[in-house]
Amino acid sequence: MSQQLLQSADLYRHSLVVDAATAGDDCVISYNPATEEPIAAVRLQSKQDYQDAVQRAIKAQRHWRRVPAPKRGELIRRMGNAFRDQCDPLGELVTLEMGKIKAEGVGEVVECIDIADFAVGLSRQLYGLTIQSERPQHRMFEQWQPLGTIGIITAFNFPVAVWAWNAMLAAVCGDAMIWKPSLATPLTAIAMTNIAHDVMRHQDIFNPPDCDAADIFGLVIGTDQEVGETMVDDRRLPLISATGSCRMGRIVGERVAARLGRSLLELGGNNGIIVMNDVDMDMLLPGVLFGAVGTAGQRCTSTRRLICHSDIVDEVATRLVPAYKSVPIGNPLDKNTLMGPLINSQSVDAMRQAIERAVAEGCEILTGGVEGVDRFKSAPGHFVEPTIVRVPKGVQPAIAKEETFAPLLYIFEFDDLEDAIEMHNDVDQGLSSAIFTSSLRSAERFLSPDGSDCGIANVNIGTSGAEIGGAFGGEKDTGGGRESGSDSWKAYMRRQTCTVNYGADMPLAQGIEFG
Ligand code: NAD
Repeated sequence: MSQQLLQSADLYRHSLVVDAATAGDDCVISYNPATEEPIAAVRLQSKQDYQDAVQRAIKAQRHWRRVPAPKRGELIRRMGNAFRDQCDPLGELVTLEMGKIKAEGVGEVVECIDIADFAVGLSRQLYGLTIQSERPQHRMFEQWQPLGTIGIITAFNFPVAVWAWNAMLAAVCGDAMIWKPSLATPLTAIAMTNIAHDVMRHQDIFNPPDCDAADIFGLVIGTDQEVGETMVDDRRLPLISATGSCRMGRIVGERVAARLGRSLLELGGNNGIIVMNDVDMDMLLPGVLFGAVGTAGQRCTSTRRLICHSDIVDEVATRLVPAYKSVPIGNPLDKNTLMGPLINSQSVDAMRQAIERAVAEGCEILTGGVEGVDRFKSAPGHFVEPTIVRVPKGVQPAIAKEETFAPLLYIFEFDDLEDAIEMHNDVDQGLSSAIFTSSLRSAERFLSPDGSDCGIANVNIGTSGAEIGGAFGGEKDTGGGRESGSDSWKAYMRRQTCTVNYGADMPLAQGIEFG
């Protein structure tokens, strides 16, 4: 093990972490998806552990909500710096546990640092409106209050950034939180929480008299049944922010709604790029390659559908195939690798099945395919070849409407932009979208009210790789939630409309005379 790996091992030191060789049934083992070797095991927490953590968080939040927001921001500034100090080993841990290449692992930590910086500025900008009252000597305004203790459920593929998008904002807003991470990436969750706790325990800004300041950042590692659903049903948590599959979102959304709680859902995508015949090919190809092959197609924003004008569809396919074939696949810690493994064998099976269905539905494999998926079968690691599927004109394969969380790209063909927009929007998900064109008219048509129906719509930029400054999220089955930049912070606060009568009379609204 390199010195660097030893450094990242230090990050997840915790009483819950045990040697994988001694792990019992009460543990989850974290595997390296590139080697299938266990990294370490984590003792699963129970319903009772969850209850204790919520009680502690609620107690700490009662003090935290009184701390001036810029002071909360100061602690988040220090936390951002602590993540900065550990950026490289943290990025490496993401790579080790999730399998994305190191540059992307580090990129994810940079995203976490960026959102911390954003939250620091935000801590002085939790603005409310002033409103003109219709009554004399009345002042009306809105103010934003902390929401309370919230639940955060995260997916395996962004084990650092998704928590950070929620946690950094929620903390400056005055909330406490309980994090339930994916059981595929528990060590990264422990590492992030260790850093957050260390900052909270070594500061002189927030020292509540009867509890631990670190309890603002709660973490409970447990199963969906024991911890996940208990959290979702917990009336003490006014907000559940849940990131993951549409399947999970349907369960979580319904259960939170049943108790009239709020949910912020960030679910699956089926992201398309429309390619016009006036495209700049030299811009398109790297954009598609990163979007479809980056993170081995395991981003919610990964490019899954390329909808190409019939004038250039052959050229796009012809140029993409050699680019796909030359992608270095292998150890994600190796600098030269561009594509690491999928997270587990079920993901490999799902990709194989999707390819088989596409072929059965009349599609043609241009590169990769079932052979490409099986090529790595005898070696350790969940590696696959990225695959391109060409969809014949007029065919609408049902499998292409589903999100297969793997590097599987469908190429469609169109003659008219109006048809392309219709094809683009004809899926259940609505996360990220793009058009590549040199025409202002086509670009603006794509961005018009009856253009792309997604939460993210780009021009001459791929579908993946969002910046933190914008609100992130999608429509339709993607869940409608917004996280990260812009005014997403409002999800973590409650709006209060206040009217102050500084006169000596009691006029009623709408001019009502009463008595
Ligand atoms: P998943 O749905 O299997 O799991 C996500 C999280 O939900 C995990 O923590 C899991 O334990 C939890 N969960 C599952 N069932 C639950 C239940 N009944 N109650 C409470 N918690 C439950 O997803 P995954 O495989 O980890 O991640 C991949 C999926 O996440 C893809 O669909 C991807 O598009 C999506 N994703 C979306 C975004 C976004 O911002 N829109 C970001 C990342 C990933």
